[in-house]
Amino acid sequence: MAYDPNNIFARILRGEIPCKQVYEDDYALAFHDINPLAPTHVLVIPKGPYVNLDDLTATASPDFLGGFLKAIGETARQLGLSESGYRILANNGRDANQEVMHFHVHIFAGRPLGPMLKRAG
Ligand code: 5GP
Repeated sequence: MAYDPNNIFARILRGEIPCKQVYEDDYALAFHDINPLAPTHVLVIPKGPYVNLDDLTATASPDFLGGFLKAIGETARQLGLSESGYRILANNGRDANQEVMHFHVHIFAGRPLGPMLKRAG
């Protein structure tokens, strides 16, 4: 799938749409999800035109990938989550119900989060 430069997260990166920022560096921007599913629900997005993890890992440099991964950890530290713990999750493609086609990692925290997935058929 081709990257759409007008997706909502691309517009947030360009500053065209506001966000509640948590952390930013050369590789990533982190901000609160507009529709939180946990007391803390933050999105970390790479500063580049990557649709999903497949696209990111096939095309980004190892330096960028390392920087992005560190940014996720740094975001969690800025949120004070190292002790209590947190869950990271990234929806990729149709079967995962990815809604925004700019790669993003969710950070969920602030309460016991229960099992990873509901058992389903
Ligand atoms: P996905 O289902 O693609 O993994 O998650 C997309 C997430 O983006 C959802 O949790 C949704 O609430 C969030 N989201 C969608 N539009 C906006 C927006 O304009 N601002 C922010 N902060 N979050 C958004």
